[in-house]
Amino acid sequence: MSELCSLVWLRRDLRLHDNAALYYALKSGRPVLVVFVFDRLILDKLEDRRDRRVEFIHSEIHKINNELVRMGSRIVARYGRPVDILKQLTEEYSVADVFTNYDYEVYAKERDADVKAMLAERGIGFHTSKDHALLDGDEVLTGSKSPYTVFTPYSNKWLSKLDGFQVKSYPTELYFHHFLQTLPPSNRSADIPTLEAMNFQPLGESYPDPVVSAELLTAYQKMRDYPAQTGTSELGIHLRFGTISIRDLARQATETSPTFLKELAWRDFYFQVLDHFPHVEKHAFRSNYDNIPFRNNETEFQRWCAGETGYPIVDAGMRQLNQTGWMHNRVRMIVASFCIKHLLIDWRWGEAYFASKLRDFDLAANNGGWQWAAGSGVDAAPYFRVFNPKLQTQKFDPKGEYIHRWVPDLNSPNYPPPMVEHSMARQRAIDTYRKGLASKE
Ligand SMILES: Cc1cc2nc3c(=O)[nH]c(=O)nc-3n(C[C@H](O)[C@H](O)[C@H](O)COP(=O)(O)OP(=O)(O)OC[C@H]3O[C@@H](n4cnc5c(N)ncnc54)[C@H](O)[C@@H]3O)c2cc1C
Repeated sequence: MSELCSLVWLRRDLRLHDNAALYYALKSGRPVLVVFVFDRLILDKLEDRRDRRVEFIHSEIHKINNELVRMGSRIVARYGRPVDILKQLTEEYSVADVFTNYDYEVYAKERDADVKAMLAERGIGFHTSKDHALLDGDEVLTGSKSPYTVFTPYSNKWLSKLDGFQVKSYPTELYFHHFLQTLPPSNRSADIPTLEAMNFQPLGESYPDPVVSAELLTAYQKMRDYPAQTGTSELGIHLRFGTISIRDLARQATETSPTFLKELAWRDFYFQVLDHFPHVEKHAFRSNYDNIPFRNNETEFQRWCAGETGYPIVDAGMRQLNQTGWMHNRVRMIVASFCIKHLLIDWRWGEAYFASKLRDFDLAANNGGWQWAAGSGVDAAPYFRVFNPKLQTQKFDPKGEYIHRWVPDLNSPNYPPPMVEHSMARQRAIDTYRKGLASKE
């Protein structure tokens, strides 16, 4: 029987620096085994086998492994169902405790409950820590101890609770000597599954490093709404997979940009909404909004997806998304409003399309953004607010730079005319919403 060890299970926290679960595993004083599971229950469902997120995760696992190899250890990365892989590992190693970071998604909570039960049968502890959010669970509640559903009072309370302690890094580096020395050097990276073995094709893309300059943060408030500028951090994918520490970022934002810090509060806000109100994953937060008779025209939806609506700002956004896996926040709001209100397509269709394409896809934020645009969510835009794409363009892309970058065919005969007339679509949306909401009363 090998030496009793602690196992740290990485999921959306792909870093060794300032990682809460890893810190507690290392602090146990036992040798630590670092594990990542390529979860086939998630991966096998992805339709596009050239997926940026999977490629990103795969390359980050190699980076972590390289760091571990330099310290005489290695990662154990396997492809399968998490509960099966964890069970295998408890048979191969003498695991005393499993440490991991808390995940707010419904699937993740169910998965963790299964793993916890499996481990409990074997007398092994399962410990979760807060790591993805700055404040979570019951840390930010109203005076009557209920979760906030309106952002401004939430963010005020959130800010008042965000002290030096909450943004302090976990000094994992102090304990790196506890990493488990597992295999002889020649075998150390032997078993990270290849993308091909998991039936994925590499795209060969690179991603911006998770660094954010003081200049960008200082100019953030002024620049963040203009999609033609590099005015936002593009850190989404790093925050999603934990290749940057939220605490490091919050410390930097506290010093330079209250506006940027507020965006991190939105991130926590949507985590806590999903955690406290898990029904939002499939249903409107306000149940009467599940009664809107959406038109759901397939052909129109496909034109929206392809960026062929004849509304240049909408098409620019969708083409940016399709080509790069990213879209500017202002344009996300415009295209979402267009899909739901102008075309009267169920917000869940647009949400699913974003989920399949966004490299920074995060269930909590994506669901929050779509329900905001639909008017059905917490603190959502009122249903009668219908973005006018032309006015939005005049305000946020006045010189048409963003549009010309993504819609080079704008002035060619091939570019389609607007697929729906704005005033008619606006009125149709308001009438349809009104009817749907009234029918529930
Ligand atoms: C319809 C719609 C869908 C969205 N889908 C997602 C999604 O799947 N994943 C996602 O991370 N964000 C989503 N957002 C929020 C926001 O658009 C992105 O976080 C932002 O555009 C990412 O670019 P950035 O990293 O440059 O952001 P920055 O402006 O540099 O902000 C820094 C970070 O703050 C967080 N953040 C900023 N704005 C928000 C917000 N409104 N809600 C929650 N977190 C925020 C993100 O983690 C972001 O990376 C969505 C917004 C809308 C309107």
